[in-house]
Amino acid sequence: MIVMKFGGSSVADADRIRTMAEIVKHCVPQKPVLVLSAMGDTTDYLLESADAAINTGSCSIDKVQELHLKTIAALGLGVRIENEIAPLLKELQDLVMGVSMIKELTKKTEDYLVSFGERLSVRIAAAYFKAIGVQAKALDAWDAGFVSDDNYSSAWLLKESWETIPQKICPLVDAGVLPVITGFIAKTAHNTITTLGRGGSDLTATVIAAACKAKEAQVWKDVDGILTADPRLVPDAKPLEAITYEEAAELAYYGAQVLHPRSMQPCVKTGTPVLVKNSYNVRAPGTRIVASLEKMAPVRAITSRKNVTLVDIVSTRMVGQVGFLEQVFSTFATHGVSIDMVATSEVSVSVTLDADYDLSRLQEDLLKIAHVNIKTRKAIVTIIGDVERSSEILSRAFSVCAAASIQAQMLSQGASKVNISFIVNDNQSAEAVQRIHKEFFSNHAALNKA
Ligand code: ASP
Ligand code: MG
Repeated sequence: MIVMKFGGSSVADADRIRTMAEIVKHCVPQKPVLVLSAMGDTTDYLLESADAAINTGSCSIDKVQELHLKTIAALGLGVRIENEIAPLLKELQDLVMGVSMIKELTKKTEDYLVSFGERLSVRIAAAYFKAIGVQAKALDAWDAGFVSDDNYSSAWLLKESWETIPQKICPLVDAGVLPVITGFIAKTAHNTITTLGRGGSDLTATVIAAACKAKEAQVWKDVDGILTADPRLVPDAKPLEAITYEEAAELAYYGAQVLHPRSMQPCVKTGTPVLVKNSYNVRAPGTRIVASLEKMAPVRAITSRKNVTLVDIVSTRMVGQVGFLEQVFSTFATHGVSIDMVATSEVSVSVTLDADYDLSRLQEDLLKIAHVNIKTRKAIVTIIGDVERSSEILSRAFSVCAAASIQAQMLSQGASKVNISFIVNDNQSAEAVQRIHKEFFSNHAALNKA
């Protein structure tokens, strides 16, 4: 068995669905299980409809409805599938009206709302497969064994899913049926709908692959695999032939929008390989993600994450004070603020966090034990590479940054064997990535050889 996941842009319209189906059809002998995202930007449209309902009282689901009905028509699917999705569209319309009355959208309701995207896409795709002679069955994640906690908008799957998922899916595959499963969503044990976080279909696919002991999980995107940098910043970024789970996870977490940050976890457990492929360019070999690789060039990829806040905290007590860090970190925990990077000295600690947090209360508490300096509009530049060679990597990276007067403001490396990160001003992060990429990846960067 293999698991094949197609993201929103790979099922964005009738043409993309035909291409996707063609790719899947070729793989039928390998017994595929299909995981789909919502069509195109449907998830965003759904969120926008709730926004409009709250702010303007408009209750339109036109954009979502039109896209799906138009696609059904363009695929030549008849009234049967229209009738099948009609109750879903009706339920969605009622929900948006409810939101417009209540004028608020809790995380719980938001998850319920966005779930319609995937529930619509799998039904249309399964109908199309049947039309072209592939025996297929649309399944909502909860009918495929997905049970999660109630951490809405970023739910975690419960352990029992590892047993219920193969119980539901394997018999279908054995019977020669193509299961077409909603990515991204799940349900709690109490039957409320949850989501696994934006981009969560990747995680759906890797969980199925790991739990069903599939040969591999294929993640079909609109780029040629995992690239050495964001192609919007670095036009000559190259796809990587292979990368490790750890490298892929660090890349995802530090801003490369290739894979859901948590999606590597299931495959790490089982060693299931993940293959990232391009549905617009089927012949490109893609990137293989595996447990370990021979060491090669010192740097594998560079990424950046913008909109980061840097907090410098300097103890007001004496050197040697016991428990300072403990107090600092428990203050962050109390306020529910998640920290990304940390650098410390005897009496000071610097941390970075997402700019979205409101830090006023946290700052009040920190001021009881320390001087606090909050700096906004920073970015994290992350080099994924061989940390054992950090002196070489850092000296080359810093020298190209220094040449453009880009100041590194905090540095963190060590715990992860693959991640070297530092902070720069937000407006200099693109240039930092470009310069470092050029240093390590341009053709004349021959020194990058092992
Ligand atoms: N449709 C969801 C999103 O846009 C999940 C996914 O695409 O993986 O985030
Ligand atoms: Mg999407």
